[in-house]
Amino acid sequence: MVESSETDWVSRFADDVIAEAERRAPGKPIVCASGLSPSGPVHLGNLREVMTPHLVADEIRRRGLECVHLLSWDDYDRFRRVPAGIDPSWAEHVGKPLTSVPAPPGSSHANWAEHFKAPMIEALARLGIEVRGISQTEQYTSGAYREQILLAMRERAKIDAVLARYRTRAGEPAPADEHGYFPYKPYCEMCERDLTTVTAYDDETTELAYTCACGFGETVRLAEHDRGKLVWKVDWPMRWAYEGVVFEPSGVDHHSPGSAWVVGGEIVGEVFGGHQPIGPMYAFVGITGMAKMSSSKGDVPTAADALEIMEAPVLRWLYARRKPSQSFKVAFDQEIHRLYDEWDALGRKVSEERAQPAELAAYNRAVRTASGPLPATPHPVPYRTLASVADITTGHAGQTLRILRDLDGVESLDAARPRLDRAQHWAAVHLPPDQRTHIRETPDHELLDSLGPDEREALRLLAEGLDDWSLDGLTTLVYGVPKLQAGLAADAPATPELKAAQRAFFVLVYRLLVGRDTGPRLPTLLMAVGADRVRKLVGS
Ligand SMILES: [Zn+2]
Repeated sequence: MVESSETDWVSRFADDVIAEAERRAPGKPIVCASGLSPSGPVHLGNLREVMTPHLVADEIRRRGLECVHLLSWDDYDRFRRVPAGIDPSWAEHVGKPLTSVPAPPGSSHANWAEHFKAPMIEALARLGIEVRGISQTEQYTSGAYREQILLAMRERAKIDAVLARYRTRAGEPAPADEHGYFPYKPYCEMCERDLTTVTAYDDETTELAYTCACGFGETVRLAEHDRGKLVWKVDWPMRWAYEGVVFEPSGVDHHSPGSAWVVGGEIVGEVFGGHQPIGPMYAFVGITGMAKMSSSKGDVPTAADALEIMEAPVLRWLYARRKPSQSFKVAFDQEIHRLYDEWDALGRKVSEERAQPAELAAYNRAVRTASGPLPATPHPVPYRTLASVADITTGHAGQTLRILRDLDGVESLDAARPRLDRAQHWAAVHLPPDQRTHIRETPDHELLDSLGPDEREALRLLAEGLDDWSLDGLTTLVYGVPKLQAGLAADAPATPELKAAQRAFFVLVYRLLVGRDTGPRLPTLLMAVGADRVRKLVGS
């Protein structure tokens, strides 16, 4: 499909959202929404839930319109199970609201939900994503939804009928509940858990009776009761109406028949008199290269983890350049080098005014928001070079600056930041141990003594050619040595024989410098090792 010449997917959604908001609530701030559960570390895949409405909200703000991006924290949901790595005694909290569960041992946060919200809130700020966070615990326990809860209880037969339509289609039997259907579930006054059953409700008095699996039971007046919540399939459409949400995407798992999105679309109008938002279904975001990474946060890659290895604009770009319906992967492995090559190539196209409109739009959404530009690296050395330098120097600042100055004219390490920090983190954490480079301290005399006259000659030519100490000079040199030996001109075309000779020469140099058959690009490696040490290691 050909992209529209003047716009991208974000712009098209913004057009639709602005028009719809004008129909529903002219002159009011436009509301986009996201929802996240702090039941554990927020998986990087869930960033799409926030990034998609962010990009649309940001486009609306760029057009000078007021737009609010709500981020609902589903922190009043029940604690479902104790994750691996957490003290099994936390099982006693299963069934309580996430805000009533103690934070994991050693945490400085007040409760379970806050502990997992905090790193995501920080990551969103670093990404330039401005949201208005809403704690559903605060909303429910303050009585903010009281009228909506009473309304849902009055209309429980209507809600049950909507749900029943999908139950029938799916061939599921109606739930056998002798007391009837109630869309509200109290948390037990005694044990705080939601192991409760509503046994009676009086629409006139709003008296609600419940029993709990713990043995407790009581009757409360729902018009004054602030310790329970609407079930999810009613809660979501209630909030669409309450908040006036015009745009809220959701994951593919929410879009099957009978799912919350589909059912909510009927309940929001029939019960709450509101509208379903414009809500594209977004595709799965995969992760590569995290399999071997042991995370202290439960082996779950988070947005914060991604921001350790890539700059915020690059992570934004991954989302901006793909339509929500397209899936993609975030790379923690060597693929990140290729990603950064693409990013740098796009940057050059943009500065040379060669970028296509859709490319340009994605680039601009990545590097700035309506509030201003995101932090940029003043002197962006290619990421794969930085990663190699970080590998070779293991992060040593003095060596790093010397190499980057020689390689690319970098004046100070700060000029190469924050990209340098990201590449250093990548090399330290994500470069597999068997691919790490260890420069030899002493020459490999055994190997040197075993060499034939041609190989010795090649090493002599290399050592003598090190005077042109630049990346270009060294590149010409390492490819040129085998040419010289074959009696070819420096600009001779590559033949299969010449390529084989070059490969053999590179292997020899790698083995002498780093004791392996491969390594970082040879010119970069030579530069990192330094001329004197290269001469010593190749036996000159
Ligand atoms: Zn109880």
